[in-house]
Amino acid sequence: MTNPILQVKNIGLIYHTNSSEMKALSDISFNVEKGEFVSIIGPSGCGKSTLLSIIAKLISPSYGEILINNVPLQESKTTLGYMLQKDHLFEWRNIWQNVILGLEIKNNINDKNLEFVENLLKRYDLINFKTYKPSQLSGGMRQRAALIRTLAINPEILLLDEPFSALDSQTRLTVSNEIVNIIKNENKTALLVTHDINEAISLSDKIIVFSNRPSKVINIHKINLSKESDIINLRTSQEFNECFNTIWKELN
Ligand code: ADP
Ligand code: MG
Repeated sequence: MTNPILQVKNIGLIYHTNSSEMKALSDISFNVEKGEFVSIIGPSGCGKSTLLSIIAKLISPSYGEILINNVPLQESKTTLGYMLQKDHLFEWRNIWQNVILGLEIKNNINDKNLEFVENLLKRYDLINFKTYKPSQLSGGMRQRAALIRTLAINPEILLLDEPFSALDSQTRLTVSNEIVNIIKNENKTALLVTHDINEAISLSDKIIVFSNRPSKVINIHKINLSKESDIINLRTSQEFNECFNTIWKELN
């Protein structure tokens, strides 16, 4: 694999406040290959969300360069999808009205796109809940609906900022597994931010470990665990434990 869809090159970010400046990111570099599921793991406050905001073009880096499909970020036409910790489903809209929101905003409502969304709802078992309000759905279903809303605009890259952290630990395991399966199934590339080592290992093809602020890349791990076994077996395997211990030491 040598055709990265995303290249982060030597990115730094300094936040300027009234009286001081604070360096959040320092010389961050890594690549994400097409179809890869990559996690960034690092301590709270180290700058993970900041980096996603930079990739989503919400803030500009202080230095460094980002390429998407070999094109500088600012000129890139590649569609990115962004999913956050809170699902941000609107309670006054039903599930159907929520999942087509992105298409509405982009002025892209047409038969073909609506059929695409309809099929996503069918494929991922939400079709019978089209007319339900978000509050009538379980946490896991809401997160699936939020993902479908993100997928509706057909993004090439998904940016996921701790999307499971609002779920209780039982639900979290199942839902995170479901979400990753959907992302893989739809052949998307994903960059997930998390501070949960278990989650990162069980979901990712590659893990990037960030240090404390100003954060830099401590290490990049390729994960080659056999993903066939179910998530519980996976988490009790020796390979998994070795990986956990290595990353744990790097983070502490
Ligand atoms: P993480 O997502 O890893 O928890 P963040 O990227 O949210 O970390 O924040 C990194 C650091 O930058 C934190 O110390 C945070 O307080 C600070 N920070 C975040 N946003 C701003 C901002 N707009 N202005 C100043 N400091 C900020
Ligand atoms: Mg964050």
